[in-house]
Amino acid sequence: MTRQLNLVVLGKQGAGKGTQSQRLCEIYGLIHVSTGDILRAAVKAGTPLGLEVKSILETGGLVSDDLVNRLVEERFAAPDAARGAVLDGYPRTLAQAEALEGILGADGIALVINVDVPDEMVVARLSSRRVCQECGTIYKDADPSAISGTCEKCGGDVVQRSDDRPEAIHKRLELFERDTRPLLDFYGSRGLLVTVNGDQGVDQVTADIRAVLAARGVA
Ligand code: AMP
Repeated sequence: MTRQLNLVVLGKQGAGKGTQSQRLCEIYGLIHVSTGDILRAAVKAGTPLGLEVKSILETGGLVSDDLVNRLVEERFAAPDAARGAVLDGYPRTLAQAEALEGILGADGIALVINVDVPDEMVVARLSSRRVCQECGTIYKDADPSAISGTCEKCGGDVVQRSDDRPEAIHKRLELFERDTRPLLDFYGSRGLLVTVNGDQGVDQVTADIRAVLAARGVA
């Protein structure tokens, strides 16, 4: 059996974690584990989980560690997780990082990639971001699909995420500093952390990540 490859992509909201994670999944044949996507899907479907977390997501707060830990554990139990995963938006707190070690084992993570961007860029990117509620395609506010409100790919509604409004963006940045930044030390002290510059073109960020993975002999 090939060894499982698990990568964690860390970074502020709007750093491009989602895009880079999707690309890494395609390149290395891994599943994309985005707790944000799982939670948003639950809200959209109106499941009991969705009803429980709806207002937290809308205001940019953090869902409880226990809840997201359980979601991730369940996801890793599925057969398609056998080759490994790119974790996007999880872990976000030290307690989650410790839980993840419990789920994957102490050496279960090959590398943690910190996509680093300045706060000003986060505010600019998120406030102009629009998303298709059906297929998840991301647009900028000036794109035709964002202006018309109809996705050019699937005809779904293109909207602004409620947590991409200014108050929620600032709250999410504060929570990143308070809860998620300590993870950089946590993974740094384990020798697992690499930082790439997220303030450049999407292709260049992907190229930098691939170069780091190759240099480390990870993939
Ligand atoms: P994201 O798409 O990763 O920005 O996540 C959207 C929202 O889902 C966050 O603002 C949180 O409310 C919630 N969420 C996602 N992942 C986590 C996590 N690991 N821990 C707590 N809350 C999370």
